[in-house]
Amino acid sequence: MTKLKNYINGQWVESSATEYLDVRNPATYELMGQVPLSPASDVATAAEAAAEAQKTWRQTPAGERIQYLFKMKQVLDTHFEEIAQLITQECGKTIAESRGEMTRAVENVEVACGIPMMMQGDISEDIASGIDELMIRQPVGVAAAVVPFNFPGMIAFWFLPYALACGNTYIVKPSEKVPMTMQYIFELFDEHLNLPPGVLNLVHGNKVAVDEILQNPIIRAISFVGSTPVAKYIYAEGAKYGKRVQAQGGAKNPIIILPDADMDMTTRITADSAFGCAGQRCLAASVAVTVGEARNTFTELIADAAAQRVVGYGLDAAVQMGTVIDKVSQARIEGLIQKGADEGATVLVDGRSARIPGYENGSFVRPTVLQNVDPRGEIARTEIFGPVLSLIHVNTVDDAIAYINGGQYGNMACLFTNSGAAARKFRYEAQAGNIGINIGVAAPMAFFPFSGWKDSFFGTLHGQSRHAVEFFTQTKVVVERWPKEWSRQF
Ligand code: NAD
Repeated sequence: MTKLKNYINGQWVESSATEYLDVRNPATYELMGQVPLSPASDVATAAEAAAEAQKTWRQTPAGERIQYLFKMKQVLDTHFEEIAQLITQECGKTIAESRGEMTRAVENVEVACGIPMMMQGDISEDIASGIDELMIRQPVGVAAAVVPFNFPGMIAFWFLPYALACGNTYIVKPSEKVPMTMQYIFELFDEHLNLPPGVLNLVHGNKVAVDEILQNPIIRAISFVGSTPVAKYIYAEGAKYGKRVQAQGGAKNPIIILPDADMDMTTRITADSAFGCAGQRCLAASVAVTVGEARNTFTELIADAAAQRVVGYGLDAAVQMGTVIDKVSQARIEGLIQKGADEGATVLVDGRSARIPGYENGSFVRPTVLQNVDPRGEIARTEIFGPVLSLIHVNTVDDAIAYINGGQYGNMACLFTNSGAAARKFRYEAQAGNIGINIGVAAPMAFFPFSGWKDSFFGTLHGQSRHAVEFFTQTKVVVERWPKEWSRQF
């Protein structure tokens, strides 16, 4: 059993924490490690080390900085399978899902290798006679990421490679529920990357560590991903302390199904969206809104798909859905299913009280389908973050769009149809940052920003791609006068 350490200034150091949390495999309940709840002083030490390292890191040419990213990609590729297995062991998703997660992490490293070009500035000559104006991009300094439990390997990489390549130094604070994957990734980086000490730091912990990230004046920029109440808090507190903040929050993602959709394809994709990663994805479908005659066929097909999904330990190859993160989450999800029933929904497929032979201590909830959900009820609006799909029925596309746009969140909305005109209308009117047309998880590739609207995102610049480059750099505008007559002396 591993007692985790922080990684500060190129060294593994024991936290000065007085409290540690157990990290358990959510399928087997085996103890995997103990994570320190680091005090503010550990974060402060990391921030000071990062600030010292940044003085020389920012002077390292971008072309040299990205050489470390090429190595980073190589290390992640070489150890891809071990990392994926660790994700499954500590987070409970299937091994295929863990591999998918790490593929997306590596894509971000690849895109960030283009930063020497992406962070180029602009110049206008002769804005007045003999006067030129330049805009250059410089790093913001020390930055930090605070990330959630549901993608232990990927989410830090929406930010980390861009931050480093732009000349910043960095601190990662993983979720205390799943700290093992990032710990292992940092062990690999420590062994193989040879980054200058202090450029990349890891501090474990919870709210106490996050509050120091918010308040410590050395840390200039914060990238947060997690639930909406915490995202709002991070955004407001970060602003209070004068920081640059991007904060991605929760979601309640609808899928709209028109009668002309290919029902077999729609069902397969919706089931993958709703039940993939046991519904613990900020882009998971949570509500399926059938329009007109789509209702009967879709309801029958999705109930079958939910009932047939193979649930078990994510490392078993035949398993299609793993656990939820822990017993607290399991109890919360089961409570929300009951809440749906109390609000008048029919529990068409009931995933509560799941028992998986051989994994009796596991935190399992089987796929669940709630029918006739009241669009105004709590269950149609609350993020469940579990394998629960609510079915709502409306008569027109306008009604479906009105349901979406009346919601609190705006992370993703999808439409299934054969009609280009309906797709165009939907793309135009739906209030969500990520739109899928005949796609169930509209996850942007690393070379697009990961958008999010309304209570799913607080800030201006999103993670990934050009937005990340803008987030991790500050612009400096220089106006220069070089009178022509001065050149006569040469
Ligand atoms: P969470 O908000 O509980 O925790 C996220 C991070 O914040 C963790 O590192 C945690 O230590 C820290 N934290 C928790 N409470 C805090 C507090 N009071 N003050 C300061 N820091 C605090 O989220 P979670 O349960 O780990 O993750 C699930 C949530 O994340 C879901 O709501 C999901 O939709 C969301 N999510 C969003 C996206 C996105 O891109 N929008 C992606 C993944 C997950």
